[in-house]
Amino acid sequence: MSEETIFSKIIRQEIPTPLLYQDELVTAFRDVAPRVNSHILIVPNKHIATINDVTSDDEITLGRMITVAKKLAKEEGIDEKGYRLIINCNHDGGQEVYHIHMHLLGGQPLGAMLSI
Ligand code: 5GP
Repeated sequence: MSEETIFSKIIRQEIPTPLLYQDELVTAFRDVAPRVNSHILIVPNKHIATINDVTSDDEITLGRMITVAKKLAKEEGIDEKGYRLIINCNHDGGQEVYHIHMHLLGGQPLGAMLSI
């Protein structure tokens, strides 16, 4: 699970995708298949396959993901009504792309936390 995914190519813009945010640690872009009105992915520039693979060295990057989520939620105009941040891990968590990413979801009521 250490191989790069499509997200690394998006981060490097080898696959052109409009970026909503990029700095030295994280990149954000819209989900290609949005599940809700506002669906943004916030991704560390460094390839980390799953949350199981993070280390204490990644703490600044993981914190940056949160502060960027807050900034983008404000820019999207969803900060006051509210939104949800999700990081899926491995099969049971519903992870499809093995490069960790935070989903920023909002723009409509999101209902119950889980639907199983
Ligand atoms: P996961 O299920 O791994 O938490 O979420 C992966 C997300 O990445 C999915 O919501 C999927 O729609 C999105 N995604 C997969 N491939 C691409 C892509 O090439 N571009 C973008 N923008 N999103 C993608």
